[in-house]
Amino acid sequence: MEEKEDEEDSSPEEYFARCSFTGSDSDQLTFSSGDRLLVHVKTSSDWWWAELRGVKGYAPASHLRQGATIEGATEEEEDASLEDPWQDEEYFGSYGTLRLHLEMLSDKSRTEAYQQVVLSNSASLRSKVVMDLGCGTGIISLFCAQLAQPSVVYAVEASSMAEYTRQLVKQNGCEEVVTVLQGRAEDIELPEQVDILVSEWMGNCLLFEFMVESVLLARDRWLREGGVMWPSSAALTLVPCQANSYFAEKMAFWEQPYGLDFTPLQPLAQQEFFTKPKFSHLIEPDDCLSTPCDVIFLDMYTLKVKDLEEIEGQFQFCVKKSGFFHGFTAWFTVSFESLGEEGAAVELNTGPESEPTHWKQTLFMLDRPVSVHTGDSISGSVLLRRNPIWRRHMTVTLHWKINSSKQETDNCQVGTKSFPMWR
Ligand code: SAH
Repeated sequence: MEEKEDEEDSSPEEYFARCSFTGSDSDQLTFSSGDRLLVHVKTSSDWWWAELRGVKGYAPASHLRQGATIEGATEEEEDASLEDPWQDEEYFGSYGTLRLHLEMLSDKSRTEAYQQVVLSNSASLRSKVVMDLGCGTGIISLFCAQLAQPSVVYAVEASSMAEYTRQLVKQNGCEEVVTVLQGRAEDIELPEQVDILVSEWMGNCLLFEFMVESVLLARDRWLREGGVMWPSSAALTLVPCQANSYFAEKMAFWEQPYGLDFTPLQPLAQQEFFTKPKFSHLIEPDDCLSTPCDVIFLDMYTLKVKDLEEIEGQFQFCVKKSGFFHGFTAWFTVSFESLGEEGAAVELNTGPESEPTHWKQTLFMLDRPVSVHTGDSISGSVLLRRNPIWRRHMTVTLHWKINSSKQETDNCQVGTKSFPMWR
């Protein structure tokens, strides 16, 4: 608290809440749309140290605007309010270059899972109408055309990659079957409904970037009654874990670098390295403190766009080995149901027991490690809350309660932490 006050300047800036926000811990403010807040320190681009009716706490910068109404807003604010909440220019811009496509295509587990789905359903795909939503380089469409005999594959891609995809389709002799349509799936028109809607829409922690919304909208508009979704379902899995080397590298490091005491930097380290989740974490099966648990399950046939606003899951873990509980690791699995009698369901599992994928896993670090013992239980919930303004972002809030198995200590610790991804 003192440190924050030291940084405060003498003249806080006045802001207004553009929407309501519920703080998830005592460090965060809770406010309603239209509330007047005084911003003392713009601590980071995402979180500001602010004051509401005499109470101080952090407020998410994306929820605040200068001026009570758009009319009262400065020119800069008006520009910001015109900014696309989907950030499509940046998003599709990045898919117009090769970097991401190279990363995805180099991910064999991912790509071969889709190839396997097509292969094991090749007989049932005969004469079917397929939509490949977000076809990128067209890889899934090309698998369909080469390994099965669909009547047509509509390969939809919004980024400028689509121009190359057309060439790739031709180069591989698939232009009779694959039709590349450049545009957002939300805007394109098809001449008919489709039997199968296939897409590789998953992001970090399953939902990040929320491409899944485009898939649901396309499903409701273009999938024929009784048509098939690939993937057909998705699950998010969580496990309490130790992360000794990450903790040592980012936090314990400050204890004695070159024999000096740099521990005053630890609060900064916590803010800088542990506030947001760590993407691209590869957890060793040995670092799992318990058996992983599926916390969220999505049925791609019944899931609705509005369900994406808030998704909550519960967990109950039994600690199977003593160690330091540094945080939670998350990953996802998607399943592809088979079209007919032939072929079994295919699964793409991005967890530590499977071949690593380019998503790897996502690590959520607690502020400080907790020592746990075999037989302790860790129960709680995870809430994925979509950012009300920035539609590709979300906040993951974890609540946990640790019950010690040792009778004499009647030890019960609770904790909660919210992780913005990214706004
Ligand atoms: N199917 C490809 C690419 C997957 S990445 C493969 O498996 O390698 C997701 C792709 O979907 C990106 O190329 C992105 O530009 C595209 N995309 C995302 N949302 C879209 C939308 N609403 N309409 C059309 N394309 C979209």
